[in-house]
Amino acid sequence: MDSRRDFLQKLTLSAMGLPLISLSGSPDMAAFYREPYEGPVLRVAIMGLGSYGTRVAEAMQDSQKAKLVGVISGTPSKIKDWQSKYNIPAKNCYNYENFDQIKDNPDIDAVYVITPNGLHHDQVIRVAKAGKHAICEKPMAVNAKEGQEMVDACKKANVKLLVGYRMHFEPKTLEIIRMREAGEFGKIMFFQGLTGFKIGDPNQWRLNKELAGGGAMMDIGIYSVNGARYMVGEEPVWVTAQETKTDPDKFKAGVDETIQFQLGFPSGAVASCLSTYSMGNLDRFFLNGQQGYAELHPATGYGPIKGRTHKGELNQPHQTHQTVQMDEMAGIILESKKPVVPVDGEEGLKDLKIIDAIYLAANTGEKVSLKL
Ligand code: NDP
Repeated sequence: MDSRRDFLQKLTLSAMGLPLISLSGSPDMAAFYREPYEGPVLRVAIMGLGSYGTRVAEAMQDSQKAKLVGVISGTPSKIKDWQSKYNIPAKNCYNYENFDQIKDNPDIDAVYVITPNGLHHDQVIRVAKAGKHAICEKPMAVNAKEGQEMVDACKKANVKLLVGYRMHFEPKTLEIIRMREAGEFGKIMFFQGLTGFKIGDPNQWRLNKELAGGGAMMDIGIYSVNGARYMVGEEPVWVTAQETKTDPDKFKAGVDETIQFQLGFPSGAVASCLSTYSMGNLDRFFLNGQQGYAELHPATGYGPIKGRTHKGELNQPHQTHQTVQMDEMAGIILESKKPVVPVDGEEGLKDLKIIDAIYLAANTGEKVSLKL
């Protein structure tokens, strides 16, 4: 009886054109009840079939506007598995040597680069030269110089460059941004971002300077850097930073274990953040204004994100981040939609400029000025 009532309620809401995804909280149910989508579809090839690439591919199955149609991989056995799992034709499969030929493939619109950080620069530039839109995982590159070259190459090739900032589409995060813009927290004074986890295997690429570009800051600290900007709603003008290393064997030169950093904003607001590979359960954002506060904890994991403000719990429903991200990015690429918080190459570049400044501040002990 209950399920029949639910079904009828969903049908009624569906007829009213309301977004059913918020009713069920389950992407599968939502997909079942959703009205058929007849707009343009972004045809995506994933480059790098590793753990995050696998998560994105699975989430894309529930996307209405983006479809996985191709792969680029250095591992033939993975290509074979993905071909059968996702029904990918052989003509849409490439490796790292031959993927420039994608330029002659009219059935692929965009390449989503999900490889180790140190490879993003060259790979995105090759994607741009092949005339395809690029979606690149965070960090977009390993320093601002590389990031700028990627932005320039995509501009020159007249293709879009987006960065995989999935939190920019997360409903509780967006509600806090809405409340801040409506003045509900009053003048923003302070942000705290704590992001970290205990890293395992000492031989993984995340601990290799060349492939990772750094350490925790590049991988997980970037969430505090980026989060400070979208939570405070301003661009920082100075940074200070302090690095600590308890295990120099595991965290070699240029691979940061723990960095605390502070950001100053034009309004006078300040941020205090921690990035680490040595502490578990560290995923918390706190925003304080003169009339209220917001807290997200967890703030950046795959969800459900939990949060509250001075007005009470945030209860926007959880949606698989990568499904929403791919739907929204398809809208940005194909229909020039504007997201609430940008996800373009310029946005990725700003984070890289801040990270360059954090490393400089940590190495010199100086307060570093920023112009973003
Ligand atoms: P993995 O190590 O799990 O996968 C990376 C894949 O890249 C490999 O499986 C491999 O795929 C390919 N690859 C190409 N060259 C190399 C190389 N020299 N060494 C290792 N792998 C190589 O990493 P993740 O999937 O966890 O991370 C990939 C990217 O995604 C990173 O930039 C990371 O920061 C980002 N990321 C983003 C997340 C988010 O929430 N937005 C979460 C997790 C990661 P193949 O065998 O197909 O060539």
